Amino acid sequence: MTDSPSRVAVVTGAGRGIGAAVAARLADDGFAVALLDLDEAGVKQGAEAIVAKGGKAVGVALDVSDAEQVEAAVTRVADELGPPVVLINNAGITRDNLIFKMTEQEWDSVLDVHLKGSFLMTRAVQKYMTQQKYGRIVNLSSTSALGNRGQVNYSAAKAGMQGFTKTLAIELGKFNVTANAIAPGFIATDMTAATAERLGMGFEEFKAAAATQIPVQRVGTPDDIAHLASFLVSEGAGFISGQVIYAAGGPKD
Ligand code: NAP
Repeated sequence: MTDSPSRVAVVTGAGRGIGAAVAARLADDGFAVALLDLDEAGVKQGAEAIVAKGGKAVGVALDVSDAEQVEAAVTRVADELGPPVVLINNAGITRDNLIFKMTEQEWDSVLDVHLKGSFLMTRAVQKYMTQQKYGRIVNLSSTSALGNRGQVNYSAAKAGMQGFTKTLAIELGKFNVTANAIAPGFIATDMTAATAERLGMGFEEFKAAAATQIPVQRVGTPDDIAHLASFLVSEGAGFISGQVIYAAGGPKD
């Protein structure tokens, strides 16, 4: 327990993968945590696990790309847990395809979840942060922001998250609100398992092949990202803002 138990953190896409690990870590750090996801069962289970360990948590189902659902969910979090001052914009999807085969639906759905979803969530939560004169925003970018075959939609969204983050840092800094982006490399989750399946490879084989290309010779875990998120939302990280931190087991540029 390193932070004030009265502080409230909101994590989107917290039903599984990186979001679930970040939510559990922030609860261990002493935050009351709101777990938001499309998948109601996943967030209810995650919230129950936190409460069982003596923490405070609530699980709320929503689609982050729906403005009404976002407003309703954030209001509920503020009513049940208190004003949210930490936001992790983590919800994400992939709809990979080469540009010549990509549909408008594949383009729109990826941009909607990552970019519009982060915009709607941040617009709703910043109101509480600016009132409290304290806030920490962490947005999930990706090494795919630097370009990745089959992901024009996803890489555009993840590059967009970086500009979004830097602009939030500029606009909200005077309210003692920081905004930073985490850009993970290969993290073993359902998302990368789905990529392996699309490429016709077993997940173990896919991870082993990826590890040979990573300087630390392993793929990442959700806990690797949770550790960095924990640092970026800590009180002591208040002079770090507008940064994109690659967590990829090696350098990226
Ligand atoms: P994941 O295992 O697929 O989990 C993503 C979560 O987001 C799921 O729980 C999903 O809900 C939720 N979600 C999707 N659309 C949503 C929406 N419209 N509203 C609310 N929740 C929604 O993915 P992950 O690997 O943990 O990735 C988490 C984040 O890290 C994403 O932003 C991803 O782009 C980024 N990232 C991942 C990697 C990697 O290697 N895994 C690398 C770089 C960046 P459902 O369960 O209902 O679908």
